[in-house]
Amino acid sequence: MLTLPTAPDRVRAERPAYRPYRVAVRAVAELSPTFRRVTFTGDELDVFGSACLDQRIKVIFPHEADDAPRGFDHLGVFDPDCIAQGAWYDRWRALPEELRNPFRTYTVRAVRQQQREIDVDFALHGDAGPASRWANRARPGDELVVVGPDDLSAGRLVGIDWRPGGCGELLLVGDETAVPAVCGILESLGDEVRATAFLEVPEPGDVLDVRLAPGHELTWLPRGGRERGAELVEQVRGWVAEHRHIVTPDAAAAVRPGASVALDESDVEAGLVWDAPDGAHDGFYAWIAGETSTVVTLRRHLVREVGVDRSRVAFMGYWRRGRAELS
Ligand SMILES: Cc1cc2nc3c(=O)[nH]c(=O)nc-3n(C[C@H](O)[C@H](O)[C@H](O)COP(=O)(O)OP(=O)(O)OC[C@H]3O[C@@H](n4cnc5c(N)ncnc54)[C@H](O)[C@@H]3O)c2cc1C
Repeated sequence: MLTLPTAPDRVRAERPAYRPYRVAVRAVAELSPTFRRVTFTGDELDVFGSACLDQRIKVIFPHEADDAPRGFDHLGVFDPDCIAQGAWYDRWRALPEELRNPFRTYTVRAVRQQQREIDVDFALHGDAGPASRWANRARPGDELVVVGPDDLSAGRLVGIDWRPGGCGELLLVGDETAVPAVCGILESLGDEVRATAFLEVPEPGDVLDVRLAPGHELTWLPRGGRERGAELVEQVRGWVAEHRHIVTPDAAAAVRPGASVALDESDVEAGLVWDAPDGAHDGFYAWIAGETSTVVTLRRHLVREVGVDRSRVAFMGYWRRGRAELS
């Protein structure tokens, strides 16, 4: 159950779930060789949705071309009508391509409404994309736009894919891009549920401090020289094999490896690899996010080979190897 800080009388049903916020970098912290935490401040962050967990946001970056407009006013995203109508994306799309600032999807790691601050943890991966390039160089005072949840909206929980329902046996799996989400989720859990998490990160120095309630287990898997996803898949398969009594307690319903089952497999090449079902009343629930092919491999293992009902497996392809995020 989520505890919501907003007084109900402030909530307006008609307000869009998400809105653009004008923000500036307040501080940058090197959490580890891979993770850079950027703390943003902005006048209106006192109403930024504070549920956190794996709630997604869009970060709109400054245009990099020399002849492109500076700042963000040309996007029209601060126009009160645009905010009231939730029209930022239509405004953005209506611009000629050369005027559209790049944006990417991130997780809000922390929200401090009173201080008008939010934290976003960037997993750096060189200068390959606009987001990582920006994060590598971020300095206090840098400005950008964050499109995030509005705590004054009745839809302020939109964009949270962690929906375990009444399930008490929880498995969380991710790579470095899912570290902010998994850490946020783990920190929200009490001892009434039991969570096991596996996080693959580039190197041993990327192991972060996380506050865990008793009964939860988090295993960090530094990749080192191994192929991306290899260790993660191996460890999760091993854990599942040892915990079949939890994962598929009704063994008769479980599917044996190799059995033929008709599934609506997501197409890794074509479509969005994403399904975030509402969890069941009790029992097992898995949440898997990160690089798309690893996510698909793990989801296939759980659903096709082990026989977990697909309504108990949330899986989200956060990014694709060799492909920029489509804006
Ligand atoms: C819901 C959601 C939440 C997310 N939360 C976070 C978060 O909190 N922190 C975070 O760091 N990421 C997060 N991501 C992932 C992030 O959006 C992608 O990594 C994004 O592609 C980064 O944009 P970019 O401009 O740096 O690279 P892009 O321009 O999108 O891609 C350029 C190249 O870099 C590759 N690439 C992209 N990401 C990585 C990576 N992490 N490692 C290695 N190569 C990569 C691409 O395959 C491509 O070849 C999230 C994604 C989603 C969908």
